[in-house]
Order: sequence, then structure tokens, then C-alpha cells
Amino acid sequence: MHFAVFAENDESRWRDDTGVLYHFPRRYASIVVAGTFIVYYKGKMRSQRFASERLSIEPHYFGRATVGTVYPDAESRKGDLFATIENFARFRNPVPIRRADGRYYETIPPNRMTNHWRDGVRSLSANDYAAIVGDAGPMMLSMPVSEVNEMVENEFESAEEGRPHLRYVTTYERDPKYRRQAIAIHGTRCVACEIDMGERYGVYAQGLIHVHHVQPVSTYEEPKRIDPANDLVPVCPSCHAVIHRKKAATLSIAELRTMLGAPN
Ligand SMILES: [Zn+2]
Ligand SMILES: [Zn+2]
Repeated sequence: MHFAVFAENDESRWRDDTGVLYHFPRRYASIVVAGTFIVYYKGKMRSQRFASERLSIEPHYFGRATVGTVYPDAESRKGDLFATIENFARFRNPVPIRRADGRYYETIPPNRMTNHWRDGVRSLSANDYAAIVGDAGPMMLSMPVSEVNEMVENEFESAEEGRPHLRYVTTYERDPKYRRQAIAIHGTRCVACEIDMGERYGVYAQGLIHVHHVQPVSTYEEPKRIDPANDLVPVCPSCHAVIHRKKAATLSIAELRTMLGAPN
């Protein structure tokens, strides 16, 4: 089993999304693998304006999670990577970087004393992980309000005759976490008609895209972990409506592309 610390600073060039995605340089690829148990860390506060967004103004740990899968960042020329985050739980209280007896929670190799805290991703021993999570006390697993709003926004209703308000999107298509992971991996261009809503309509529609689950959930024999790279694709609202026009026969992306005269 792997354990690691993920630093998430108040301001950075990395496109991190707490509890959803972690964006990191290639040099940490050996530490960040599927199934890694992580604790989230926030370093020194550099500006007072972040005080209200943090559990503490001091460096601290603020949550735990596991790594789902690791994907290359398609837009990076340096080999940056994304990790999808699963099972995020935010600590109710911050865990400071030193234990009650003054020692650091993290075991720091002697040759790393000065540089240790600069690394955004740090290997952690199983014992150190257990000590941090153990001292964290109660955790919050609930979804923040902003995520619930986003979920409602992404709902889409089919207009099948006689059943005008039938909701057809799956839980996974509505889940804001999977949605954000899928968009980070695939972008916002429709995989069927290749429209980018922002290019077509301008900034007002930038980022408007649905996320479609390519295998209907009901066909799974047992609960399966969603892999946003292979199970979810971005589709524009028009294509999504056509895909689900008939409830009994969801179209495949290939079928839709054939209807549009696009090569498969
Ligand atoms: Zn489309
Ligand atoms: Zn769909």
C-alpha cells in the first residue's frame, strides 16, 4: 500500500479541485499511483484574504482521500498528470504539522530537512498516515452546497412523447465530481459532432457541455467503480438529447457519428 501527502496551496498554477482532482508534475509519478491513501496538506498562508477558506492559518492537514486513477494532462507538454480523487473526507478540525510532543507527523529523511516542505507530493509511511488521520477526529463526508447546485444544472430531461419530464441522465452523469474529472480528462468538445459550445456561441456558452455515461448503469451486473477516462464522454446538449431520445435504445457514440456522416 502507498501513502502520501498532497499539498494544496491557496494559490498555485496547478488545476487542483479538492476531493475531485489533483494535478501534479511528472516527477511525482512514482508516488502517486491508483489506490494511494493520501492526506491533504496546506502550507503557510501567504495572504490574509485566504484566512476564511482555511481550517487554520498555520500549515496543517485538512482531509484524507484515496487516488482513483492517474491520467496524463492532455494539454501539458511537460508530462503533467491528473489523479482522480475518491473517498474524500474533510477534517472538521485542522491537524497541525507537529504532534502534541513537538515531533513532526511526517518522518523527514535527514538529508531532506530543508527541502522537505517544498515538495507538493511527499511519500508517507503507513504509521504517519495513521497518526494524522487518527488525530483528525470527526470528518465531514457531505457534499458542499456549490456541488449540489452544479448537479441540478447538469440535469437534462427527455421529451419522449407522453412522458415529457422523464429524467434520463444517470447518477454518474449528474455527479459533479465525475463530471469535473471527465472534463479535465476529455475537454469540453462534443465527441459526437465535435462542436465546442464556447467556439459556436461565444464566451456565454463556454464550458457548457454534458457528460454522457457510455454504458448505461442498468447493464452492470454489479456495482462498478466509474472510470471517467473510459466510461464518461463529453457531449453537447443536442447530441445528448438525440442519444437518449428513445429510452429503450440509447445510441452509441459511433451510431450518432454515423448519423452525422462523421468518420468513426
Ligand atoms: Zn454534439
Ligand atoms: Zn447520457
